[in-house]
Amino acid sequence: KKETMRLEIESLSCNEAFARVAVAAFMARMDPTVEEVDDVKTAVSEAVTNCVIHAYGGGEGKIWIQAEVEGSLLTVQVRDSGVGISDVKKAMEPLYTGKPEAGRSGMGFSFMEAFMDEVQVDSVPGEGTVVTMKK
Ligand code: ATP
Ligand code: MG
Repeated sequence: KKETMRLEIESLSCNEAFARVAVAAFMARMDPTVEEVDDVKTAVSEAVTNCVIHAYGGGEGKIWIQAEVEGSLLTVQVRDSGVGISDVKKAMEPLYTGKPEAGRSGMGFSFMEAFMDEVQVDSVPGEGTVVTMKK
C-alpha cells in the first residue's frame, strides 16, 4: 500500500527547515534509522534551497513537495515553476554553480546524489524543475 503526502509552500528560506522536518516526520512510518532520516533531511534541504535561490532568485514563487512511502521505499519530489535549468548534466557536475559570485559551492546536487539512492532532475527552461529522489 502506497501512502502519499503533498505540500505547497512559499519560496522562503524559512521553509527550507520546515520542508525537511515535514518530510522527516512523514517518513517516520517507515521506522527509519536516525542516519536515514538525516540523509533525507539533507537532500530535501538542498533541493528546496535550490528552488529559493536559483529557481526564483529570492523572489516570489511556490514550491511543491510530494513524498511517497511504499514498503521500505521513499520517493520525494521537489518541484518549482521557476527559471528552469538549460543544461541539467552540467548543473549536476560536482562544483558547478551558476552563482559563483554568491559564494555557492556547487555541491547541492552532489550531496543529494550522495545521500539518496537515486536522483533524477527534469527541467524545462522558463517552466521549472522537478527533482525526484529515492531512498
Ligand atoms: P550549493 O548547493 O553548494 O550551495 P549550488 O546551489 O550552485 O551550490 P547545486 O545545488 O549543485 O549547486 O546546483 C547547481 C546549479 O544548478 C545551480 O548553481 C543552478 O545554476 C542550477 N540549479 C539547481 N537547482 C535549480 C532549480 N531548482 N532551478 C534553477 N536552477 C537550478
Ligand atoms: Mg544548491
